[in-house]
Amino acid sequence: MSADNISQFSSLAIGRDTPAQPISEYFGELTFGLGEMRERLPREAFNELIKTLEHGRKLSKDTADAIAKAIMDWAIRKGATHFCHWFQPMTGLTAEKHDSFISIQHANHSELKVIERFTGSMLIQGEPDASSFPSGGMRSTFEARGYTAWDPTSPLFIVENAVGAKTLCIPTVFFGYHGQALDNKTPLLRSVQTLSQEACAFLKLLGDVDVKSVMATLGAEQEYFLVDREVAARRPDLMMTGRTLLGAPTARGQKLEDHYFGSIPTRVISFMEDLERELYRLGVPVKTRHNEVAPSQFEMAPIFESMSIASDHNTLAMETMKRVAARHNFMCLLHEKPFAAINGSGKHCNWSMSNDKGENLLDPGHTPHQNLRFLAVAAVVIRAVHKHAGILASSIMSPGNDLRLGGNEAPPTIISIFLGSMLEKIFETIARGEAARGSEREIINLGVSHIPDISKDYTDRNRTSPFAFTGNKFEFRAVGASANVAVPMSVLNAAVSDTLAEASARLKVILAKTPSRDEAVITLVRDLINENSAILFSGNNYSAEWREEAKRRHLPIIDSAADAFAVWNDEKATEFLISTKVLSREEILSRYNVQMERYVKSMEVELDTTVALVNEYVVPAIEKQLERTYAVQRDVKNDSLKSALGRRTAILESTFADLLSHCDSLKKSLDKLGETHDEVAKVAMLVRDCRPTADKLRAAADRAEQEVADELWTLPKYREMLFHHSMK
Ligand code: ADP
Ligand code: MG
Repeated sequence: MSADNISQFSSLAIGRDTPAQPISEYFGELTFGLGEMRERLPREAFNELIKTLEHGRKLSKDTADAIAKAIMDWAIRKGATHFCHWFQPMTGLTAEKHDSFISIQHANHSELKVIERFTGSMLIQGEPDASSFPSGGMRSTFEARGYTAWDPTSPLFIVENAVGAKTLCIPTVFFGYHGQALDNKTPLLRSVQTLSQEACAFLKLLGDVDVKSVMATLGAEQEYFLVDREVAARRPDLMMTGRTLLGAPTARGQKLEDHYFGSIPTRVISFMEDLERELYRLGVPVKTRHNEVAPSQFEMAPIFESMSIASDHNTLAMETMKRVAARHNFMCLLHEKPFAAINGSGKHCNWSMSNDKGENLLDPGHTPHQNLRFLAVAAVVIRAVHKHAGILASSIMSPGNDLRLGGNEAPPTIISIFLGSMLEKIFETIARGEAARGSEREIINLGVSHIPDISKDYTDRNRTSPFAFTGNKFEFRAVGASANVAVPMSVLNAAVSDTLAEASARLKVILAKTPSRDEAVITLVRDLINENSAILFSGNNYSAEWREEAKRRHLPIIDSAADAFAVWNDEKATEFLISTKVLSREEILSRYNVQMERYVKSMEVELDTTVALVNEYVVPAIEKQLERTYAVQRDVKNDSLKSALGRRTAILESTFADLLSHCDSLKKSLDKLGETHDEVAKVAMLVRDCRPTADKLRAAADRAEQEVADELWTLPKYREMLFHHSMK
């Protein structure tokens, strides 16, 4: 998104009591990364750390202690009293275990002295009680141990809670006794490493002989909703599940689409400024903020960074958003589909790769060689997304995203790529073979040397595409707002790594029989495009025709979470995760188990909450309304009014009857679900039976909302939740 609409709000800053401090003065003041290490560590210790980072060597005890000492001195000066190992278990949230810095020293027999102590081993390894985190069956109880290990590639940071206590957070990975990944970060780190190796090998074949490393880059645009906290607190569904389970859409909805271009409400601006300030202090480079399409929906986008840091930063940003929102009396909703009938929230993951010279491999560049490299890399990504479309679609599936993509009001998840007209045209020409015979001259004639213009090809951006080329990067848009980006990004990195290896092998064969390297590369590009054009689609992804067309093209169609889980359980579809060393078979299986368990649990909570809402709020409201209507009816003399009231009563009664009968069916289904112990069967029951019944129940409840007097309806309505702060 562009920063265009920011300027008009800058005048709001004038009202502040303190003059704004330049961001550069406090950016990252709560972080301790390599820069701080260089500044504060003895030279040998710093050099050893760099070697560790580059070659994966073990740190000596002395160095580890020196690093820990420098970190502790800094953290205590910043007011931190505790430290924690911060990690990302497979539930998709983060977890932390806090310890204070204090330690007891025996000065002599009778005297105890409290000192601050933090050693290298406390920094490097922790052992949280892992039994409360899901392992997907990987750990038997006798070895229910989990370990956290410091990830020195991501800066340490200090977080202040609501009452001002400060904790030093150490980014860590989380693994089991035999080294199995119990978290989302470990596979991500493995995937960026493999990607670098495979990309270097491929680039060398293209002629970039001096390339040393390739970095995956990520900029995650985060969408969210803000609801007034007092209003949200009166919605048990928001409190329990993060989304509304009942609620009739407002007449206005997002029909007018005026929110997108409108000014940000003052109360929200104040939240955003506070949020950004916190994130800047934590070293998160937030760049843009703006309204989104739906009322009360907003977006925040950072400047892209190296993948593992950007991933940590997105997780940290989500936590910070919730915390700062509470301070501003908002509830921040990161759910993918908090409200029916209006847009849900996604997290557009802008993905690219750059070499060690800082050149973006997906930037068409300025020379014919860079352009050719760009075309080759883009073709590889197209192949990767086509080959692994099913697992990419599954990697973004979650209970919430299931409603945003694939629910009854949303399009199914079918992964396809939108390239934009310019790139499409270039690839079409190459695919027709017009460039394969050619020399560099002909490639230039083709327009390859003018590719830089692609970045201006914004006119026909396709908002419905789940995976789009946007000038100098691909944007994976199907990712859900609440997702831990490490999951889909690991899969995408692995898919591209796998395809890079395949492409390198093919290119070697072509090179052996083609005199010119450029010609060989163009041949590879042509073959890749011809073989994988089925994944390219520039039409409306939300249309029914696309579904039919996708079927003809044999693209995987993921209609529900059940379909997604099946892909994780498909040995053939997941084989590349093993060959790229991103996950082992055991780890894949554990993810499959954890996801299913999580899906079943969150669905059970949703359905139980729906039944409770109906019983506690909707039924009593209809009963009162009926009582009133019957009372009025009783005394009416006028015949036409009598019959009109009769019709009104009949409508209410029929809504009530529907409501009660669907509620009964849902309760019966839930009972059956409770008797089932097989997770696969449970998922199937939830998808095929419980969810459709809950949808019918909701429809009846939402009808009732429109038939019952507002004063009798105690649940806050959509208009109160969505249009609340636009009035302030
Ligand atoms: P758009 O207008 O297409 O949304 P922006 O330039 O505003 O583009 O960028 C959107 C997001 O993409 C930002 O988070 C930005 O940092 C990120 N981004 C830009 N270039 C890259 C890149 N090479 N790799 C990863 N992310 C990138
Ligand atoms: Mg966006």
